[in-house]
Amino acid sequence: MTMQSQVIPHSVLHEIVLAEPRGFCAGVDRAIEIVERALLKFGAPIYVRHEIVHNTFVVEELKQKGAIFIEELSDVPPGATLVFSAHGVSKAIEHEAIARGFQIFDATCPLVTKVHVEIAKLAKEGFEFIMIGHKGHPEVEGTMGQLDVGIIHLVEEVDDVARVAPRQTEKLAVVTQTTLSMDDALEISTAIKARFPGIREPKQQDICYATQNRQDAVKILSSQVDLLIVVGSPTSSNSNRLREVAQKRGTSSYMVDSAAELQPHWFDGVQSVGLTAGASAPEVLVQEVMQRIKAMGVVAVRKMDGIVETIKFPLPMGLKLQPAQANMTPLGQAPEPVAEIPVDLHAGFHQNK
Ligand code: SF4
Repeated sequence: MTMQSQVIPHSVLHEIVLAEPRGFCAGVDRAIEIVERALLKFGAPIYVRHEIVHNTFVVEELKQKGAIFIEELSDVPPGATLVFSAHGVSKAIEHEAIARGFQIFDATCPLVTKVHVEIAKLAKEGFEFIMIGHKGHPEVEGTMGQLDVGIIHLVEEVDDVARVAPRQTEKLAVVTQTTLSMDDALEISTAIKARFPGIREPKQQDICYATQNRQDAVKILSSQVDLLIVVGSPTSSNSNRLREVAQKRGTSSYMVDSAAELQPHWFDGVQSVGLTAGASAPEVLVQEVMQRIKAMGVVAVRKMDGIVETIKFPLPMGLKLQPAQANMTPLGQAPEPVAEIPVDLHAGFHQNK
C-alpha cells in the first residue's frame, strides 16, 4: 500500500503543535555542508567515515551526490578525500588516516572537539575520567579513543557507577556524551558525585545546546499534546532521547524515519499531536510528516514559543568554492544561519567542593 493510498481515519484529531526548536543543529548543518562542498570542489567520490550524521535521508541524499560511506580506512583508495563524521574519531583513526595520506576534512562537531580538547588537557595533568555515555556510539568511541586505554571509564547507567574501578581518585573528572538525556545524565552524575565527592565536572556541561533545547521544548510540548511524533532515524541518539523524554512524562511518543512509517492506530482518540525532530533530521521530513497528519482532518497547525537558535560553526579551511560552484541547494532545507559564534575550546573544568 502506498503512502498516498493509506488513509488514516480520524475524527477527533484537530491540532498539530510544532516544537521549537527542532531539527538540524549547527554541528549537523556544518557537517553536511563540509561533504557537499568537498563534492563540489573536488568531485565525486568523497569518502566519509561513518554516517556523516545519523539520518537515513541525509546519508542517501549524499550518496546520490557521490559520497561513499565507509567504516574501515582500508576501504578508501590512496590519495582520496576523506571526511570524518560529526561524531568525531579516535586518535588511532586520525593517525591512520594521516599515515595513509588522505586529504582530510574534519566534520567533527566543534562541541565534541571541545570535549576532546578538555580531556586531553586534564589527561596531561594526570587525570582519569568517568564518561557517561552509550557503549558503541561513535562519539563515545571517538572521545574514549582520545586517550590511552584505561584512562576513561564508561558508565551507561546508575548501577555501573558502583563497578567503576579507577586506578586513583585524587585526579578524576567526569565527561558526558553530548546527546544524552539531561535527566538521565543528572541521575548518573549524582551517583558519581556521591561515590567520588571530589570529582571534577566541566564548567560548561558537555550535553550540547541543541540537545538541551530540543529536550526542554519536548518537556513543555508533551504537557500540551496527547501524542508526540519525533522525526529521526533509529541510530540517532538525540532523537531517541526526545521520544523517551515525552514518554517519561506520560505522553505517548513514536519516532519515525519518514512519513511512511506513521501508523494509523497511534492516533486513536488523539486530539492534539506534537511534532519535533532530532538534531540530524531535516525539516523537509518534518513537513512531509506534517502534511500526512494534516490529511487526517487536522484544522490547525501552530508553532510553540521557543528558543530561536542562531549558532553557526565556521567551516574548516580549504573548502572555499569558486563562484560557479557556489550555487548549492541546502540539503533538507536547513534553517537560515544568523550569526557565527566561535566555540570556546578552553572552557575548562571546575572542581566539586
Ligand atoms: S547534536 Fe550537539 S554535539 Fe551533536 S552535532 Fe549537533 S550541536 Fe554538535
